[in-house]
Amino acid sequence: VNEFALIERFFAAQPVARADVVLGIGDDAALTRVPPGQELALTTDTLVAGVHFLADAEPADLGYRALAVNLSDLAAMGAEPAWFLLNLTLPVPDERWLTGFCAGLYELARAHGAQLVGGNTARGPLNIGITAAGLVPAGAALTRRGALAGDRVYVTGELGDAALALRHRLGVYPLAAADFAAVRPRLDRPTARVAQGLKLRGLASAAIDVSDGLLADLGHVLAASGVGARLELARLPLSATYRAHLNAVGWEPALAHGDDYELCFTVPAARVAAVEALRPQLGCRLSAIGEIVAAPGLALLDPAGRPYRPRAAGHDHFAQ
Ligand code: ADP
Ligand code: MG
Repeated sequence: VNEFALIERFFAAQPVARADVVLGIGDDAALTRVPPGQELALTTDTLVAGVHFLADAEPADLGYRALAVNLSDLAAMGAEPAWFLLNLTLPVPDERWLTGFCAGLYELARAHGAQLVGGNTARGPLNIGITAAGLVPAGAALTRRGALAGDRVYVTGELGDAALALRHRLGVYPLAAADFAAVRPRLDRPTARVAQGLKLRGLASAAIDVSDGLLADLGHVLAASGVGARLELARLPLSATYRAHLNAVGWEPALAHGDDYELCFTVPAARVAAVEALRPQLGCRLSAIGEIVAAPGLALLDPAGRPYRPRAAGHDHFAQ
């Protein structure tokens, strides 16, 4: 297949048709309509073979994950996904690979009503870049700034399962088949907490998605807000599988690995009751894990109430 036949077959045929897309794939740029009073939230994330995934990864998982990590950024802003662009570099135009990739990509795009409106296709080492755009009422976006002393710190879902799945896959901490099956979707098909992010508009004082590890990402909120926090490890949301391995692996996979794509956010005391009232309609666990304090820094308390010093900080592509 040549470049244009490939685009026609795999990308022009994308399944979502939004009324606010004036012109989609096929011209020099896409045209979309932004409703009055709304702001655009723009984000981009790239998956690089050998860095973000192993060379033999399932193409459908890659398609799903490449979009999920972008939707997770929109979720953390309280934005509703609308459109995305796909910048794809492929070593060979492998039709089987593309079919699988598109199946995973479009499964998630359909679930969120997000339309692929353009992109770029080139030959080279496998690299999957997605740029996503979402809509948020002017002034209503959640940001990393805004946490104040006394706010409660929350996290959605569960932490650390993606780290366990990766350790198993790399052979550094092998799991029984049933345990791997339980944690694997958390690595290969992360859930972008879009619905939860939308519900947190007007309630959270600050928010971030946990892509590089809770400590690193909450650290970004603390730095941007000019505050500190105290977390209780006993309150960390861990899956039953993780808890069964806690003695062996410690807290670090849940604190400092990343790939969780949960939302970590802060809530002023006056809005805690409103956030607690969301629980039945949230569709995932919600855990209060600590509080914001005025003094900078992140203090951890172990289950016995003693200070805990973590052995790892979080993912950093340029760390030496
Ligand atoms: P140009 O040369 O003007 O940048 P291209 O020939 O590269 O345009 O692409 C033709 C059309 O196909 C454009 O609308 C572009 O957005 C779209 N396109 C190219 N690659 C992809 C892709 N991987 N996914 C989605 N759309 C793509
Ligand atoms: Mg052009």
